Amino acid sequence: MHVLGYPRMGAQRQLKWALEGYWKGNLTQTELLEKAANVRQQHWQDQLDAGLDFITVGDFALYDHMLSHSYLFTVIPERFGAQQESDWQWDTYFRMARGRSAEGKDCAACEMTKWFDTNYHYIVPEFAPQQTFKLNPQVWLNEIKQAQQLTSKVKPVLVGPLTYLWLGKTQDGSDPLTLLPDLLKAYAQLLHQTQKLGVEWLQIDEPILGLDLPLAWQQAFEQAYNQLQSSSVKLLLATYFSPLHENLSIACSLPVAGLHLDGITGQSDLSRVLDRLPPYKVLSLGLINGRNIWCADIGEIQKIVEPFYNALGSRLWLSTSCSLLHVPEDLEQEQNLVPKIKQQFAFAKQKLNELSCLAKQVVNATDKRVVLNKKLEEITVSTLQSTINKLTPREFERNSAFKVRKQIQQKKFQLPAFSTTTIGSFPQTQAIRQARLGFKQGILSAQDYEDAMCKEIENAVSEQERIGLDVLVHGEAERNDMVEYFGQQLEGYSFTDFGWVQSYGSRCVKPPVITSDIQRPKPMSVKWSQYAQSLTSKPMKGMLTGPITMLCWSFTRDDISLKEQAFQLALALSQEVLDLEAAGIHIIQVDEPALREGLPLRQKDRAAYLRWAVDGFRLTVAKVQDSTQVHTHMCYAEFNDIIGAIAELDSDVITIETSRSNMELLKAFEDFKYPNDIGPGVYDIHSPVVPSEQWMVSLLEKAARLISPEQLWVNPDCGLKTRGWPETRQALTLMVQAAKQLRQSHTVIEA
Ligand code: GLN
Ligand code: ZN
Repeated sequence: MHVLGYPRMGAQRQLKWALEGYWKGNLTQTELLEKAANVRQQHWQDQLDAGLDFITVGDFALYDHMLSHSYLFTVIPERFGAQQESDWQWDTYFRMARGRSAEGKDCAACEMTKWFDTNYHYIVPEFAPQQTFKLNPQVWLNEIKQAQQLTSKVKPVLVGPLTYLWLGKTQDGSDPLTLLPDLLKAYAQLLHQTQKLGVEWLQIDEPILGLDLPLAWQQAFEQAYNQLQSSSVKLLLATYFSPLHENLSIACSLPVAGLHLDGITGQSDLSRVLDRLPPYKVLSLGLINGRNIWCADIGEIQKIVEPFYNALGSRLWLSTSCSLLHVPEDLEQEQNLVPKIKQQFAFAKQKLNELSCLAKQVVNATDKRVVLNKKLEEITVSTLQSTINKLTPREFERNSAFKVRKQIQQKKFQLPAFSTTTIGSFPQTQAIRQARLGFKQGILSAQDYEDAMCKEIENAVSEQERIGLDVLVHGEAERNDMVEYFGQQLEGYSFTDFGWVQSYGSRCVKPPVITSDIQRPKPMSVKWSQYAQSLTSKPMKGMLTGPITMLCWSFTRDDISLKEQAFQLALALSQEVLDLEAAGIHIIQVDEPALREGLPLRQKDRAAYLRWAVDGFRLTVAKVQDSTQVHTHMCYAEFNDIIGAIAELDSDVITIETSRSNMELLKAFEDFKYPNDIGPGVYDIHSPVVPSEQWMVSLLEKAARLISPEQLWVNPDCGLKTRGWPETRQALTLMVQAAKQLRQSHTVIEA
């Protein structure tokens, strides 16, 4: 029994506080490292206490394991000026993540991106032309030594050479695969030094075996592992997040001592692996879900394991599907979950116990089911299933086609060409946060809170009128998080107090959990939007979080499909849409920033996902009248490969993020004629810099070359909640002027 990795932050997020203290200068480096060592020690102790056969080492990182890995091989871009450093320098390490040159000047941080299909973000390795790899192993070796003081059963983990190269990028755009030979030399040295510490097994992660790989990369596996074979450390090749399919044979035949398969996402590999596994190899099966917070049904898993145990005996290892990095640490801290819900959860620490329980069951082959935690019958059926099954195609369609709707809407709203709007949120000032907190803690009465929020809305509306925007928003002052806000008002969601999961660096998120069928007991956002509309004669845009984003940023149920959960959410949100419409809100935005994140890792699974994701959105908005204008918003997205699906949303208007890439993202529109209206963001809200009017005009001109001017809207990239008022006011004023300039230079044909 072993785990592929463990959370890093500590149950009280000790690492987060230590890191942030260190960055602020309140903690010395020694203090930081000591605190980090304590967190590691605790986590190893947890693994020992649960009776695991190995403790996992090397999964820890002060910022990110890919960054640590780059540092381990001295892959440090030149602008950080540290190629000559012979030791591991934590400050250089943090500067790479956070963007500072050695002289303390601003300098581009290394790029950060999502780790496969999780919400964890890693630092992308950046390879120079002719990059060489120099081993810098002290930190790695010291962690192993630290662990060996606790036990001799230490299994270090390392990102595999091919996954490491695949996830990196070269500065000159060349294929990183050409760097493999030199990288392998460094790996071989590292394995040698690790083996000298008396390490028997090393886990080497190659999750890219679950992706659609080009032939050259597939073939490189054999070359790489043949070369690493000379070391006498036994390698456990670990894969996760996705079935291996055509790569299963490669994975089985590589000259390593063991193979780990993700038995949750890679279920389809399980029936094929025994035939392919050479008789000397260990098979590690990951059957405790590392991506979800539900307790395992040990009895069911035992049934899956039995044939493997019969065939392999002690060559069978049991594990988690992937690293436990993606789940919160310890359920025991939760004091406010209703017992009936809590008893169905398992966080990382509880999953360790599930593993050891499973192993005992398998070895003793008892029929007597040990029930650690128990799934309740009642949540394993969806009461909405029949409603969902009865949905007809009609319920996913607006009344009329976009062209017709556009005419009707134009008559109604009389908006100018290049209409201006914002994405929803306005600066979340200290006062707003205080009011929300005060209300939550009971210091502020409901009435006082409502008054405070209404004041904020009044302020946002008058600011927007002064600036001269065409379509206004109420400002979202009442929302602290776009998913949590709606989740809390829907039935079917549960919230934890300490269910933190690392997102990047010291940042953690606390995803809400879908625990039963979704229902909307009463309107959630109507009163705010309605009040805002009462203050102005301009159209007020209602603002909702879409079903797919609600889903992607939550822990989901595992007893019904994601599609079904998306449709449940869509049905609840569609009631909100209709209530907004009835309350006189005739422009309604349904945000879907996470639409692309849900995209499956394998090409062949993508169409099915996009089908139900698009349908979920359409179900949310389809019932409104032709004269009601539906908007959606997306960011963090590469649109090229999903542009067809975006068009199929059939949103009257979509606002997207494009300014950070200088409208590069609009390349997608070169070959694809996007049918509806679109607002490519003209300024980056992630930075306090106020863009010049001319800059925004030039971006819009660029857009107008690819998209016809009558389709274009003018808006920022995303919500403004992280900005301050002065820069917001300035930037939006200039944005409105930029729109006016465009109106003068382009004659727009009325629809
Ligand atoms: N309406 C949201 C806002 O403006 C959208 C946020 C997002 O795209 N992540 O804050
Ligand atoms: Zn956004």
